[in-house]
Amino acid sequence: METVEVFDTDGKGRGLKAAKEFWAGDVIFAERAYAAVVFDSLTHLVCHTCFKRHAKLHRCGQCKFAHYCDRTCQKDAWVNHKNECAAIKKHGKAPNENIRLAARIMWRIEREGGGLTEGCFVSIDSLQNHVEHFGEEEKKELRLDLESFLEFWPHDGKQFAMQYISHILGVINCNGFTLSDQRGLQAVGVGIFPNLCLVNHDCWPNCTVIFNNGNHEAVRSMFHTQMRIELRALGKISIGEELTVSYVDFLNVCEDRRQQLKKQYYFDCTCEHCQKGIKDDLMLAVKEEEKPSPEVVKDVIQFSKEAIEKIDKARSEGLYKEVVKLCRACLEKQEPVLGDTNIYMLRILSILSEVLSYLQHVDEAAGYSKRMADGYLKLYHPNNAQLGMALMRAGVTHWHAGLIEAGHGMICKAYAILLVTHGPTHPITKDLEAMRIQTEMELRMFQQNEFMYYKMREAALQNQQIQVLPEPTNEISPGIFQKKQ
Ligand SMILES: [Zn+2]
Ligand SMILES: [Zn+2]
Ligand SMILES: [Zn+2]
Repeated sequence: METVEVFDTDGKGRGLKAAKEFWAGDVIFAERAYAAVVFDSLTHLVCHTCFKRHAKLHRCGQCKFAHYCDRTCQKDAWVNHKNECAAIKKHGKAPNENIRLAARIMWRIEREGGGLTEGCFVSIDSLQNHVEHFGEEEKKELRLDLESFLEFWPHDGKQFAMQYISHILGVINCNGFTLSDQRGLQAVGVGIFPNLCLVNHDCWPNCTVIFNNGNHEAVRSMFHTQMRIELRALGKISIGEELTVSYVDFLNVCEDRRQQLKKQYYFDCTCEHCQKGIKDDLMLAVKEEEKPSPEVVKDVIQFSKEAIEKIDKARSEGLYKEVVKLCRACLEKQEPVLGDTNIYMLRILSILSEVLSYLQHVDEAAGYSKRMADGYLKLYHPNNAQLGMALMRAGVTHWHAGLIEAGHGMICKAYAILLVTHGPTHPITKDLEAMRIQTEMELRMFQQNEFMYYKMREAALQNQQIQVLPEPTNEISPGIFQKKQ
């Protein structure tokens, strides 16, 4: 790779810097997984090669554990599944995802050695494991994983030292990258991408990383692409500039982001946004004209934190009416006190609009999603992927509510962002493009003849149920790497 260069940073260990100039949307590098596995709970719902969700998957006839879209994915998988398949048969059942990933890494090391593999800047051996920073709880889990690993690992295979196995488990713990399904809606697995591990964190980064499941349908056609991550530039990057991504969601005040980074990744963030507390004032904004006292503000924030916990619980149990009730009660407390960009209010607006549009109360949902989108636009980097996804949701909600002008505007904005963060061939970007074209056509009809537009809409609504949005899920964990919080 001539596009990037490894260098020693000041205090952050190794890093990557640009060896040429990049512009928004450029793919700086793409990387295939060194090893990757599907989460335990989804092994029969997601393809073990490309990590796409499918209604119907083919099962490996040998172990009855692995599942694939088709023969192409099954054939692609064999080099990595062969040993695993035999071990699962022998062991009687598949171990948990951590052990499966560790074993896949070890089998690859057994085949190729632990040194540098082709196209990698860094070897698995020299990745950081942070085992020395583990607390009691983490150490206990590590010991359990070690035991399970030794039970699973075949006796006739290469035998590794305990310390080396711990190293691999530690690497997985802090460098495992979360993989999502083809719509980017659900976290479905975890993989190790060595080059990506060299990209340091910044809360206001110049790059984003996106998982692309690839296109496995036609192995010998020009459309065939393999699953990979892509590091993409969010704006102009000059030669010599360090490349950074954000490991956590930006929508937390810097103290909370720093705490999360310390806990999950064992470092103190010294990025400019954290040092200067940039945007903290907006994230904690209060209603200026009301001049609420600090005590009142504190009370409302405490109330919001407790409410959010209850709301998340109700949402994960599918109790959507309860979610709506709790959100409304919380908003009622927040509205007289908190400002429009306050993150505690935005959190409620985001959940409320998502759940209401799922329950088909699209008119109400549109209003809340507009407030969410306006707040996000003031806080996020203009090319933030999360912002793009939120604008897409808000746009679709407006469109479904018949607010075609606002809906089309938001869908266009979302499309512009996803062209940068996901690229033009990603399935989500393609969905958005189709929506952009459709809403543009409807908008033209609306502008020419409002009456006809509503007539057409009415007919469309009678003929078919408006496409229902996916069921709200607890979003992909805000950290890009796998580590449990
Ligand atoms: Zn597949
Ligand atoms: Zn098998
Ligand atoms: Zn920071």
